[in-house]
Amino acid sequence: MITENDILSWLKEIPDPEIPVISVVELGVVRKIELNNSKVTVTVTPTYSGCPAMKQMEDDIRAKIHENGISDVEIKMTYSPAWTTDWITDEAKEKLRVYGIAPPEHSTIDKKVLMGLQERVVKCPQCGSAVTEMISQFGSTACKSLYKCKDCLEPFDYFKCL
Ligand SMILES: [Zn+2]
Repeated sequence: MITENDILSWLKEIPDPEIPVISVVELGVVRKIELNNSKVTVTVTPTYSGCPAMKQMEDDIRAKIHENGISDVEIKMTYSPAWTTDWITDEAKEKLRVYGIAPPEHSTIDKKVLMGLQERVVKCPQCGSAVTEMISQFGSTACKSLYKCKDCLEPFDYFKCL
């Protein structure tokens, strides 16, 4: 007997298309898994509506479930509640840091930054310095910004908060 938990463990093996060190489950986009008779419905919330990696994630989820012998798979998109970087697990944030991507701060901080109430502090994932500057709004992918550390002079990606 296959359970919803089994399906979750399969999905944990799917790497994020943009950041292969974390899985789509750790990224927090998988909201719900339902198993009815032999049909699986997976509800996912895109990281943001224009994220080009979403189609890939959808294909990967479908392929993974097919691989395990279930042919009837439906992927449902839900935009509410909206995904936030708070849904990324703490463990995954640590993996991001080790990978060289500054983990996202809490989204509430970013909202304050957007409203000009607080300056964003992005710490260098290499040396931990808070003296960094944004070089470009867009890093290696649209979901990241490119920063440079003024202490160790290393450029790095910052995972944007939404
Ligand atoms: Zn540094």
